[in-house]
Amino acid sequence: MISFVGAGPGNVDLITVKGRALLEKADVVIYAGSLVSEEHLQFCKEDCIFYNSASMTLEEVIEIMETSIDKGKNVVRLHTGDPTIYGAIREQMDVLKSKGIAYEVIPGVSSFTAACASIKKEFTLPNISQTVILTRIEGRTSVPEGEDLESLAKHKASMAIFLSIQEIDKVVEKLAKGYGNYDVPVAVVYKATWEDEEIIFGTLKDIACKIKAKGINKMAQILVGDFLEGDYERSKLYDPKFTHKFREGSQ
Ligand code: SAH
Repeated sequence: MISFVGAGPGNVDLITVKGRALLEKADVVIYAGSLVSEEHLQFCKEDCIFYNSASMTLEEVIEIMETSIDKGKNVVRLHTGDPTIYGAIREQMDVLKSKGIAYEVIPGVSSFTAACASIKKEFTLPNISQTVILTRIEGRTSVPEGEDLESLAKHKASMAIFLSIQEIDKVVEKLAKGYGNYDVPVAVVYKATWEDEEIIFGTLKDIACKIKAKGINKMAQILVGDFLEGDYERSKLYDPKFTHKFREGSQ
């Protein structure tokens, strides 16, 4: 069995119990070394074999999976955050499926929720936004038509922008066009949950300057929206007057 496991955003204890147990009994671990903390590998057996996929092709990864499975080994494919978000797991799963190799997917804590936890905010505030947009700016990989940052920004939903910090000027420009102004709160969280995590608050006006001054150009979440600042209505769920399935309201 091949287990695709979400390693979480960085801190080694933010993997699931299930993911850790799979690492403990793995014979082979293929990990995304560019973002996954090597600390996770300390939980593996002494004779576990490790492959860092950072320098490998899809074909090489599949080759290792296939030969390991032929020998009856337990294989963990360790991805950063949650494997279902920018994990490039679908192409691996589809090849495995065509070869009749069984696989499972164990979710993980994505860096977008980890980043929001680090800044102690909530993406979904009752009258501010009830929608979270996860996206990226186009770079060497394009994004489909209709998903341009400028058009997404027009929704004024809470946003978590992955893989885009190196293009911060372009991100700011597109968001400002979509929002129609530069007074939009932004938080950049660099290496959320790692020891060298950094948090920078600003607005579309000054965020680019602030992050450049810190030299941040990789591994960051750009969180955008009014959920970061200002007033909001309290939730109905915990309102004494509001009745729901589990609680009778006072009115
Ligand atoms: N599957 C991962 C995302 C992989 S894409 C997840 O669920 O988080 C890689 C991008 O994720 C990076 O460019 C960065 O934007 C973001 N990222 C990953 N780990 C991060 C962390 N600890 N802090 C901030 N952003 C992170």
